[in-house]
Amino acid sequence: MSESSRPFHFLETRVANDLAEGKIAKVVTRFPPEPNGYLHVGHAKSICLNFGLAERFQGDCHLRFDDTNPEKESDEFIQAIQADIRWLGFSWAGEVRYASSYFEQLYQWACYLIDQGLAYVCDLSADQAREYRGTLTEPGRNSPYRERSREENRALFEAMRAGEFVDGAKVLRAKIDMASPNMNLRDPILYRIRRVTHHQTGDAWLIYPTYDFAHGQGDAIEGITHSICSLEFEDHRPLYDWFIQNLPVPSEPHQHEFGRLNLNYTVTSKRKLKQLVDEGVVAGWDDPRMPTIAGMRRRGYSAAAIRTFCDMIGVTRSDGTVDVAMLEHAVRDDLNNNAPRAMAVMNPLLVTLTNVGADHREVVMAPNHPQKPELGERELVITQQVVIDADDFREEANKKFKRLVLGKRVRLRNAYVIEAHGVVKNDAGEVIEVLAEVIPNTIGTDPEDGVKPKGVIQWVSKSEGGRAEIRLYDRLFTEAEPEAGGDFLSVVNPNSLVVVSDAYVEPSLLRAEPESAYQFEREGYFVADRFDHSAEKPVFNRTIGLRDSWQES
Ligand code: ATP
Ligand code: MG
Repeated sequence: MSESSRPFHFLETRVANDLAEGKIAKVVTRFPPEPNGYLHVGHAKSICLNFGLAERFQGDCHLRFDDTNPEKESDEFIQAIQADIRWLGFSWAGEVRYASSYFEQLYQWACYLIDQGLAYVCDLSADQAREYRGTLTEPGRNSPYRERSREENRALFEAMRAGEFVDGAKVLRAKIDMASPNMNLRDPILYRIRRVTHHQTGDAWLIYPTYDFAHGQGDAIEGITHSICSLEFEDHRPLYDWFIQNLPVPSEPHQHEFGRLNLNYTVTSKRKLKQLVDEGVVAGWDDPRMPTIAGMRRRGYSAAAIRTFCDMIGVTRSDGTVDVAMLEHAVRDDLNNNAPRAMAVMNPLLVTLTNVGADHREVVMAPNHPQKPELGERELVITQQVVIDADDFREEANKKFKRLVLGKRVRLRNAYVIEAHGVVKNDAGEVIEVLAEVIPNTIGTDPEDGVKPKGVIQWVSKSEGGRAEIRLYDRLFTEAEPEAGGDFLSVVNPNSLVVVSDAYVEPSLLRAEPESAYQFEREGYFVADRFDHSAEKPVFNRTIGLRDSWQES
């Protein structure tokens, strides 16, 4: 379904109405990642939603790093996140923005709330504060510091900024309602003391605003019209609105929630993804088994396939779990349409064509895509020695085996029919070479003697093709709900990566650019590894099999 033909989802309807009613002149959204990890498939949904709204209604989407937790953030993540968004095909309006750019304004607004009698400095320890906070069924109690004078609060807050107290000694809290049924309104924290160097502001600050105090105000500063977040922030909306109503902000953004994306067989929590990286379960954030955008890219998923998937799952007001097979289907569909075909032999067995000279070199052309002549052709080279997959040969077999059998015929894909007439074995009695004859004049036609080949097999010229490392990736978890048992690390699929180090690939694949995708006929879809592939050492990653093997099992 193309983006413009699909009916509006509820947020598109909302924006369309706000525009039609003149509530806004232009839609402005933002994507607000915290730079504490790489983006994952859930973020892709949020990116498609926020940038998609801007595209569809000719508005703007900002990229704003929500960088209020400097301990866990880094420039590596800031760079990776930008690269991922661009790769997905989106561009943000204006410069990259940072919540930290607004720290001075936020500080001024905190002072404003103090002057209005709407914020106070509180000395309760974290444990005490928890006790005072109450529970979902019991109201909280007022902090003993709640009635400090405005002057005292101003002096203390300024002293917090000036570094006169140790970390954690005091916080600034909004004065709202300790009996509110919404816990977020029970005098939430606005500022904490933390002696941490910040990746953007260095050592300029040792008090940092909380997410809640920074987020909506950042939206207001930037003129965001629709601040879209996932459903778990629904309970924060009254607080979001409280700040907008009680501060002299330059615009009045509104928060809207949507259901986050959960995928089965997948974890999408940055904390857990980080654990997979830190504990060496995967090779890094961009390991092709990771549900990160960088991982999916390296796995061979195209940006278009990921965007199609996000469009397919839609945007709703409720959380749900999507079958990862849907994502895989979008990937497979995209590759089936666009990936050129090529031949690779995973488990090579030598075949010597005994009626062909040692210096024979015959070029045959093969289509890159069976249904798409516009994708052109590539050269295959027939030489005296070729390799086939060991599974495609048997000394004896019944009629069901449609491949090469001693004394029988098979077609080499896109080339001649051959007939096997002998084998060479090693001391262990294993076949290490097949001797066969080319049946002349059989390219594109059956043999003149009427004895037809039993099937068609893959092959690669031994001298013209080359060795390659092939990394067979599969789902990272064996369980549909990896987090259900409490220990997601215990259900990691032990076969999520199998490395085939001595595969053989056809000549055109030796010239493959990193990140180009192929269908290795009969094997699946593969991509030249973004980082490790080179003409000297070809490396291909299996993106996905031709069919859904998980469904069948
Ligand atoms: P995580 O839960 O993985 O740590 P997060 O929500 O803390 O993610 P942020 O960097 O704060 O990560 O997220 C940026 C934006 O992406 C937020 O607006 C958030 O709502 C959205 N987002 C994060 N995860 C998902 C998801 N699974 N589905 C949809 N949107 C998501
Ligand atoms: Mg977050």
